[in-house]
Amino acid sequence: MNKQDYRDMWVSIEQEGGRIHPVSLELLCEARKLADAAGEKLCAVTVGELPEEELEKIRGCGTDRLLHVTGSGYEPFNVDAYTHLFTELCRKYRPTAVFVGGTIQGRDFAPRFACRLPTGCTSDATELVYDPRTGDIEFIEPAVGGKMMAVITVPVMRPQVGTIRPGTFRYAPTGPRPWEIVEEHIDFPLEQIRTRVLDFTPNEDDDSLNIAEAEVIVCVGNAVRADSLPKYRELARKLGGKLACTRPVFDRGLLPFQLVIGQSGAVVKPRLLFSFGVSGAVNHVTGITDAEKIVAVNKDPEAAIFHYSDYGIVGDMDETCEALLRQLEG
Ligand SMILES: Cc1cc2nc3c(=O)[nH]c(=O)nc-3n(C[C@H](O)[C@H](O)[C@H](O)COP(=O)(O)OP(=O)(O)OC[C@H]3O[C@@H](n4cnc5c(N)ncnc54)[C@H](O)[C@@H]3O)c2cc1C
Repeated sequence: MNKQDYRDMWVSIEQEGGRIHPVSLELLCEARKLADAAGEKLCAVTVGELPEEELEKIRGCGTDRLLHVTGSGYEPFNVDAYTHLFTELCRKYRPTAVFVGGTIQGRDFAPRFACRLPTGCTSDATELVYDPRTGDIEFIEPAVGGKMMAVITVPVMRPQVGTIRPGTFRYAPTGPRPWEIVEEHIDFPLEQIRTRVLDFTPNEDDDSLNIAEAEVIVCVGNAVRADSLPKYRELARKLGGKLACTRPVFDRGLLPFQLVIGQSGAVVKPRLLFSFGVSGAVNHVTGITDAEKIVAVNKDPEAAIFHYSDYGIVGDMDETCEALLRQLEG
């Protein structure tokens, strides 16, 4: 394989009912920077139809090319058709990299088409860096229980495939550029689809579980007592925010997994984050680095969370929470 034969960075655009999944736009914005650094073009791959205003969002991220695929077998999503599609497209166009949202769908088909090509696929990077020396992308992510940051590259094969979780990067469109639209028609034989949708139950999670977009978050760590939870919930309510937690709080069965912040949970970007009884392990902190202001409360003055916080309170979490509630009542 000659790496020079491969050009341009791709982002797979995930959509549902004509609306683009936010992760696809976040990835376009981040891949735009990488493509600029590499002197390559940024290409969005869409399957099926999208309304004009959604296409404008793709264009607004500085996309140079839209690869628009039509054909049978893609609706509803099934992994056989998508694996086949991306295998065929990559063989034909030879991109240097393909970024896929780390959603249920993306995690399903990305490693499969990478394996079929074959090439390398990395998952859950929290940072992407272009190395001009090698032309490789460094996929950086916490490893060994958060004790170190692993730099993963695909040094020999192309394309470099990666899935990145929603919320990892910011949606910060740089504005439209002149773009070209390339049409592709690839049918996938329906009889080769090995899965069948038997039933569909819409996600009925209530909105309090959607912490990724919350402007204010009150996060409780492992030090929280079960009988103290209502006061943190109350504080979150009074601040117009949402309650969240570290993973051990979920492991103890106190709060649902959707409220976990960190490497294996949600990445959040609130304007204000209160952190109570949280040690500051890397696996958790990777989920809060985009918070604008962090106020941490911990009884241990050496706790790592203080390295990441704008304001630190050394003290008991319950007492501090009660004092804040009193202030807000007064
Ligand atoms: C692959 C992998 C992925 C992971 N993903 C995640 C993830 O997504 N999210 C996540 O959170 N974790 C994750 N973890 C776990 C992570 O490594 C840490 O174990 C976890 O974040 C620690 O949670 P904690 O800080 O709440 O608890 P602890 O480490 O137990 O810390 C509790 C803190 O509370 C303080 N404290 C105790 N009593 C009080 C009090 N009365 N008042 C004030 N402070 C007090 C203590 O000083 C201590 O700093 C992951 C681990 C692995 C291996």
